[in-house]
Amino acid sequence: MFFSKLYAPTLKESPSDADLIGIKYLIRAGFVRKIAAGIYTYLPLGWKVIKKIENIVREEMDATGSQEIMLPIIQPAELWHESGRWEDYGPEMMKLKDRHDRDFTLGPTHEEMITAVVRNELNSYKQLPLSLYQIQNKYRDEIRPRFGLMRSREFIMKDAYTFHADEKSLDEYYDLFYSAYDRIMKRLGLKYLAVEADSGTIGGKGSHEFNALAEAGESTILYCDCGYAATDEKAEYKIETIKVNEELLPMEKVETPNVKTIEDVSKFLKVPRKKIVKSLLYKGKKGFILIMIRGDQDLNEAKLKSYYGDQTIQMANPNEIMEEFNVPVGFIGPVGISKKVEIIGDKSVEGMKNYVVGGMENNYHYKNVSPGKDFNIKLFTDLKMVKRGDLCPVCGKLLKEKKGIELGQVFKLGIKYSNSMNGVFTDEDGKSKPYYMGCYGWGISRTLEASVEQLHDENGIIWPLSIAPYQIMITVVNFSDVAQKEIGLKLYDMLKGNGYEVIIDDRKLSPGFKFKDADLIGFPLRITVGNKIKEGKVELKSRLSRDKKEITIEDTGLLMKTVEEMLKNYNPAEKIGE
Ligand code: ATP
Ligand code: MG
Repeated sequence: MFFSKLYAPTLKESPSDADLIGIKYLIRAGFVRKIAAGIYTYLPLGWKVIKKIENIVREEMDATGSQEIMLPIIQPAELWHESGRWEDYGPEMMKLKDRHDRDFTLGPTHEEMITAVVRNELNSYKQLPLSLYQIQNKYRDEIRPRFGLMRSREFIMKDAYTFHADEKSLDEYYDLFYSAYDRIMKRLGLKYLAVEADSGTIGGKGSHEFNALAEAGESTILYCDCGYAATDEKAEYKIETIKVNEELLPMEKVETPNVKTIEDVSKFLKVPRKKIVKSLLYKGKKGFILIMIRGDQDLNEAKLKSYYGDQTIQMANPNEIMEEFNVPVGFIGPVGISKKVEIIGDKSVEGMKNYVVGGMENNYHYKNVSPGKDFNIKLFTDLKMVKRGDLCPVCGKLLKEKKGIELGQVFKLGIKYSNSMNGVFTDEDGKSKPYYMGCYGWGISRTLEASVEQLHDENGIIWPLSIAPYQIMITVVNFSDVAQKEIGLKLYDMLKGNGYEVIIDDRKLSPGFKFKDADLIGFPLRITVGNKIKEGKVELKSRLSRDKKEITIEDTGLLMKTVEEMLKNYNPAEKIGE
C-alpha cells in the first residue's frame, strides 16, 4: 500500500470528547471516526485490524467444530416475550416499530433468536451436540456510551451458541470454548486474565470472563497467587463470622440532626464504622427488601439479584420511600419497619450485637439494637462487594486487585431459554426434554480499542504483530530523490514477495512528519530509506524497543533475516509489568 493512497487522515490533536487514550489514538491515527455517541465508522486501518481480530476468533471457533451462520439483526418482540426478557432487558434495547405497528428490537444479543431458529428442526438426541456462531453487529442503548468502542451502542460481537442433550456435554463444550478463548487471547498477543464471573441478565449457571489487563479497564478483578481470580461482582471471600460475648444492651433512640452518611454517624455518635449497620432498601418483583450490611462494607447488587433470581431488583428511590414509609432514605432501619418488607443480612452482620441503625424517623438513629431482640433478620447470606485485602476464598491469603477490560465471556445457560421457549428434543429414552445450552460472546470491536489501551506509549499505538494493520512501514525520507525512491520500491516489492504486509510512505512531507505518523499508527517495524543509502545502508527500527540496526542493502539475505528476527522478538505484551 502506498501511504499517499491510504485513507487515514491523521490529526495533531485529540478530539476533546475522547475520554480514554485508546480512542484518542484510534481517532488521531485515522483508524475510526465518531458519528454519534457510541456509534463509529471504521476507516481502512481500523477495518483492517477488525478483520484480523475476526479472523483469529473465526479460526478458533472453527477449530472447536462450531459452524458459522448469520442471524437477522432485526428481531420480533414476540421472541423476547416468550423468554420474558422484553421487560427484563429494559431500556438497553433499541426498539422499533414497523409500518403495521409491530414491535421489533435491534438484537442486543441472540439467545432468543437462535433458540427460535433451531427449535423446529433440532428435535432428536442424534443431532446433538450442535454448535453455531456468527460475527455481527449488536445494538445496546447503553445508559452511558463511553470510552469509544469499548462501551458503544453499535458494536461487533462474535456470539456462539451450543445445544446439548445433557449437562455433561455442555460442560465439555464449555471447556472447549474456554480453551479457545485462551488461545484467542494468546494469538491476539495481549496480557490477560481469565476470571470467574457473574452471569447477569443472560442467566444460567457458571460463567468466566476473559479480561485484557489495562489500568483504564472497567472491570475490577480480585485475584490471588494461588490462582483464584474473579470479577468484583462475582468474587467471594473467606467469611469469618464474629462471635462476640457482649451483653445485650437496651435499645436507645438518639437524636442525630442532619447526620446522614455513615461517616457522619460514626463521628457524631463516636462509634466505629464497624458498629454501624447500613439498611439499604431495594425493590424487586416480590416487593421491598431491606438489606443490612456493616457500615464499612459495600453491597454487591449482582449478588443480591442472583440471590433472588430477579434482575429487576433496584434500589428504592427516595420519593418512593417517603411515600411508603414516611421516612427520609438516610434514616431507614429495621426497627418497626412494615412487615411487608423482607429483612436479610449480609454475612458481615451475622453475629453482631448492640449496633447502630437508622431510627425510622427524620434525624434519629437507634443505638444498641440487636436482632432477635429489636427486629428479626430472615437470613444471612453473602451480599458483600469483595475488596482488595479480603481473604481469598480458596487459600485464605489476602486478595489483590487489578483492572481489566472484558473481551469475552462464556456462559452455561442450562435450560433457561429452551425451557421457556419450548426448545425440546426426543432423548434416547423416548422422552421429550429441553436442551442444555451454552453461549459464548467476544467483543470484536472492543478488542480493537482494548489492545491500544493496553499497548501504547507517548508517541502512539504499539500493535501486537498478529493484529497490526501492516507489519512494516518503509519511510522513504525524500521520495523525489530518484535513488531513495528506487531502493524504497525495491524493498517494498521484496518484503511483499516474502509475505509481509508493507506500507511505503511516498508522501511529499517532511521526514519528521512521516516518522511521527509511523509511530502514531504503530507499525511494528520501520525501515528508513534516507541519506544513508549513500553508504549503501537502510535503518531498521523496532516500534517497541526503539532499537535501530543499519543493514547493507546489497546483502538482501541478511536484510530479510534481520527483519524476520526483529519481528520475532517483537512481543509488546511481554514488556508489560505486573
Ligand atoms: P459489560 O459487562 O461490559 O457490559 P456484557 O456482560 O454486557 O459486558 P456480553 O453480553 O457478555 O457483555 O457480550 C459479550 C461481549 O461483547 C463482551 O464481553 C464485550 O466484549 C462485548 N460488549 C458488550 N457490550 C459492549 C458495548 N456496549 N460495546 C462494545 N462491546 C461490548
Ligand atoms: Mg453490558
